[in-house]
Amino acid sequence: MNENQDQFDVVIVGGGPAGLNAALVLGRARKHVLVIDNQKPRNWVTRETHGFLTRDGVSPQQFREYAAEDIKAYPSVQFTSDTVIKMNGKDGAFIVKTAEDKAYYARKILFAVGKRDQPLHIDGLSEVYGKSAFVCPYCDGWELQDQKLVMIMSAEKALYMAKLIAGWTKNYVLCTNGDVTLPEEQMLELSRHGVQVYEAPIHSILSQEGMVRAVELEDGTLISCTGIFFQPKLQAGSEVPMGLGCEVTDSGTIVVDAQGKTSVPGVFSAGDAASELYQAITAASLGSLTAVSINNELNFEAWDSGTK
Ligand SMILES: Cc1cc2nc3c(=O)[nH]c(=O)nc-3n(C[C@H](O)[C@H](O)[C@H](O)COP(=O)(O)OP(=O)(O)OC[C@H]3O[C@@H](n4cnc5c(N)ncnc54)[C@H](O)[C@@H]3O)c2cc1C
Repeated sequence: MNENQDQFDVVIVGGGPAGLNAALVLGRARKHVLVIDNQKPRNWVTRETHGFLTRDGVSPQQFREYAAEDIKAYPSVQFTSDTVIKMNGKDGAFIVKTAEDKAYYARKILFAVGKRDQPLHIDGLSEVYGKSAFVCPYCDGWELQDQKLVMIMSAEKALYMAKLIAGWTKNYVLCTNGDVTLPEEQMLELSRHGVQVYEAPIHSILSQEGMVRAVELEDGTLISCTGIFFQPKLQAGSEVPMGLGCEVTDSGTIVVDAQGKTSVPGVFSAGDAASELYQAITAASLGSLTAVSINNELNFEAWDSGTK
């Protein structure tokens, strides 16, 4: 490749719903775009993505295939499967380095790198994650409706999630997995609503072919159930934005303004990477919105420099 072929208006890091919708909008705006993705999104543990109008129930992989098909109509958008490991430069002239020892040049950067789950510390949870243990009732509550569920929640989130999940099933218990005791008024409220709370640490999750059968506590209690909701701890999807100087919150969320601009000029972020909403359609929508602000910036800069 010569340098011209490696020169892009926008390099998008991450090819999930946010990065792909941004690529679509920028392609339609005739921008020369490279999407670099290493195909390790959080949701690939699951078989179906729900709640995305016209795509309800497709697998995360299928979703990306449909997106690639749409974007194919815009030949200024290219894709590569690789990992971005480093970036430097400044607004108008960024250098993007990858694990495969490639270098690309970009005028603007969009980080759509999502988030990552921290390792799951409960024995047996990884076997059921995405099959019968989920993280979000809006994503998978319908599939688990009226089933006997165990909600594995920190004491802080327990009451909130108890109220929420009651819209999908009345048959559930809370496990705080050894987390600090709930305040007494919350315990009373839960008890008034007939919600049993177990505070002992979890020993393991028993399952068969990905389907949870029971949660076993360290005190020997066995809670039978057919589904679980739990709260994974999340971290930033990539360290590269921090390396470039982007401000990031303690929970790994890249700080952006309403246009998706980060604290570094010329660098944008969208989707789960820059929000805590965690819905595919929301990520796609933020990708679209941010692509518009990137394109506006490019067009206005070109106008100002007389290169329109
Ligand atoms: C188990 C589970 C089930 C879910 N179910 C649903 C559901 O049913 N409905 C719903 O609306 N939402 C669901 N979600 C949430 C949804 O998956 C996310 O909100 C959405 O995927 C976020 O899109 P994104 O583009 O921001 O990030 P992602 O989809 O996470 O994509 C980020 C991409 O960036 C890549 N990447 C990261 N760093 C680099 C790097 N340095 N170089 C190259 N590539 C990189 C990653 O590999 C990944 O492919 C679910 C999530 C989970 C965990």
